[in-house]
Order: sequence, then structure tokens, then C-alpha cells
Amino acid sequence: MKLTEIPVEGYEKVVRCDDPAHNLKAFIAVHDTTLGPALGGVRMWPYRSDREAFTDVTRLARGMTYKSAVADTGLGGGKAVMIGEPQCEKSEPLLRAMGRFVDTFNGQYIAAEDVGMTEDDLVIMRQETRHVAGLPRAYNAGGNPAQFTAFGVFLGMRVCLERALQTDRLTDVRVAVQGCGSVAQYLCQHLHDAGATLVLTDVDRGKAQALAERCRATLVAPDEIYRVPCEVYAPCALGGVLNDLTIPQLSCTIVAGCANNQCLRPEHAEHLRERGILYAPDFVINAGGIINIAVEREPQGYDEARALARVRHITTVLHDIFDLAAREQSTTEHAAMVLAERKLQAGRKLTGEGH
Ligand code: NAD
Repeated sequence: MKLTEIPVEGYEKVVRCDDPAHNLKAFIAVHDTTLGPALGGVRMWPYRSDREAFTDVTRLARGMTYKSAVADTGLGGGKAVMIGEPQCEKSEPLLRAMGRFVDTFNGQYIAAEDVGMTEDDLVIMRQETRHVAGLPRAYNAGGNPAQFTAFGVFLGMRVCLERALQTDRLTDVRVAVQGCGSVAQYLCQHLHDAGATLVLTDVDRGKAQALAERCRATLVAPDEIYRVPCEVYAPCALGGVLNDLTIPQLSCTIVAGCANNQCLRPEHAEHLRERGILYAPDFVINAGGIINIAVEREPQGYDEARALARVRHITTVLHDIFDLAAREQSTTEHAAMVLAERKLQAGRKLTGEGH
């Protein structure tokens, strides 16, 4: 295993790993550990180049710092990527090699699940390192984070309804959900149970149809979802969906969903504001999963009730962010970043780095 440290300004440690014997090519980026060890998922993806993988891992690690800071998880931000096609290139030797790579960080980075990885993959990595979180419940851990992410998004959506429409009742509210994956399935169940009307889409039509039947929802084609007249548009698939092409099409009052990096660029949050659309910053509203993992690491051990109570705190944070944005006449995204920076600043002062 050959490890190469890459100096990157603003990052504590970025390392590239080449282990041809196990077909492993991977990066781990630790962005900031002011508030605790850097926790973030391991993503396996067929990146077209090393540069693309490096860009992704650094961008995602930084995002985790802000997500955890705002959510008060007591964790820092990091991420790992493995270059490869998860469907056909994943193997036990590869995952064990990745586990050994994670272990070289001695707990400065803690691995969790992300795109292309499963709980079972984490269990294999766990044989090589104890610095893995989000394991199945049988391991006295928090299990699949999707339902906690969904619960946080659901509660956050109600806060948005209160702020934008002065109601938290879901009856008479129409929600257009983009993507019918793990998180969206739990989210749609909450929304359906609360009486919302759902419009769904997914590029996987079978998945969309099955969920639509369960929640008595209407289906639209993937590119029609932006135009659906609704109270809430919920991006629950990919990032970058709020952009120059899509924002003019939106016919909603609120954007609130679980997808990461929804705004293609920071100015897109401004475009939403100009259109009078209330945007729940993604890294605030989708923090339920990481909050659940953080609970697993508390000295008392994992407890679902405690995790759910912590996820509820997202509502308070969102109110604070909306208040701050209103006071400063800024976007909600900017307000969320300000809040995260304040928490990091306070942490740096405590650890003496701010002096
Ligand atoms: P998932 O892979 O289970 O679901 C994504 C779904 O989106 C899939 O069904 C896929 O077919 C669909 N999709 C892809 N492209 C689409 C398109 N153009 N139009 C419509 N549908 C499309 O993923 P997930 O775990 O549900 O996560 C969804 C999003 O939320 C991702 O952006 C993820 O990074 C983010 N997120 C997830 C969690 C979590 O706990 N799983 C936590 C925080 C953020």
C-alpha cells in the first residue's frame, strides 16, 4: 500500500492510496477536526480521472465540516472516495484494503456509508479498523441512516411551511418529490401519513410506480418535476438541480429535500431568494443521518429515542437560520454558512487555535 500525502490549503490532511495488489485506488480527505474527529461516508464511484475523484473528496469533506458544525454532532468533516464501479469491482480484499487505509488515520477520520457502499461493506471494513460508524443495529450501532435523514427533512419541511405559509398542516399541501430512493421512501410515507398530496418522479420508473402506489401519488416524467405546481419541491436524487435552467421553471413556494449540494453554484440560492422561494439549506435539513451516527458514538451507546430527539433539533436550527437570513437580508444558504463558521470559530477559541 503506497500512501501519498497531498498538501491542500485549508485541509488538515489529504492522502492518496495506491494498492494495486488489491485493486484499490482511493483518497481520504480530512477537512477540519476542530469540533471532533472527521466523520464522512466512503463513496465508491467510477470516476473518469484521479483529478475528478480528488475534487469530489475534498468538496464533500468540506461540506461535512459545515453539516456537522450546524448539527452540533461534535464531529469534524472528512470523506473518502474509492475509484471503481461498485456493481462489478467491489470485493472483500478491496474493502479490507480500504479498511486498512482508514486505519492509518488512527481515528482522525471515521468512515461511514455513502453512494456505492452498503452496511455489509462497512462490516467487512470493520475487520481491519474500528474507525467505522453507521454499522447495522446488530452491532449496537444506528443502522441505516436514511430513515433519520427522512425524518429530519419531514420536520424541516413543516418548519418551512410555518415560515412561508403560516401552517404546519400537511393536508392541502402538494409536495413534488424528485427521486424515490432510500430517503424519499421514508419521507413520502411521513408525508402521506400526514395527509399531503404527492407527485413523484424517478429515472427508475418501477421504483417510482411502487412508491406511488403505496402513497397514492401521481407520477410525472423526470424533467417535468420542476414545473409541477406545488407548495414544496423536494430534491431527493442528485445535486446541482437548482440551476439556471431549473429555477425559472419552479412553481413552488418552498424547496426542501434531502439531496446534497442542491444549488449548482452559490448564486443559485440568491436566484431562489429573488423568486421569493424559501430554501431549506440542504446540509442543514438533511443532517438526520449524521446525527444518528453521532449518537452511536456517545458514551452511553446508541439509543434510537435519543437519536430521534437530536434529529428534532433540526427544527430549531432552521428557525435560527431563517431568522438570521431575514435580519441580514441574505440567502438562507449564506445564513447557514455563517452559523457554521460561528460554531467553528467558537471551537477554535476553545482549542486555543483562534488566538
Ligand atoms: P438513493 O440512491 O437510494 O436514491 C436516489 C434515487 O434518485 C434513485 O432511486 C435514483 O434512481 C433517483 N434518480 C437519479 N437520478 C434521477 C433524476 N435525474 N431524476 C429523478 N430521479 C433520479 O439515494 P438516497 O440515499 O435516497 O439519497 C438521496 C440523496 O440524498 C443523495 O443526494 C444523497 O447524497 C442525499 N443524502 C442521503 C442521506 C442518507 O441518509 N441516505 C443523507 C444525507 C443526504
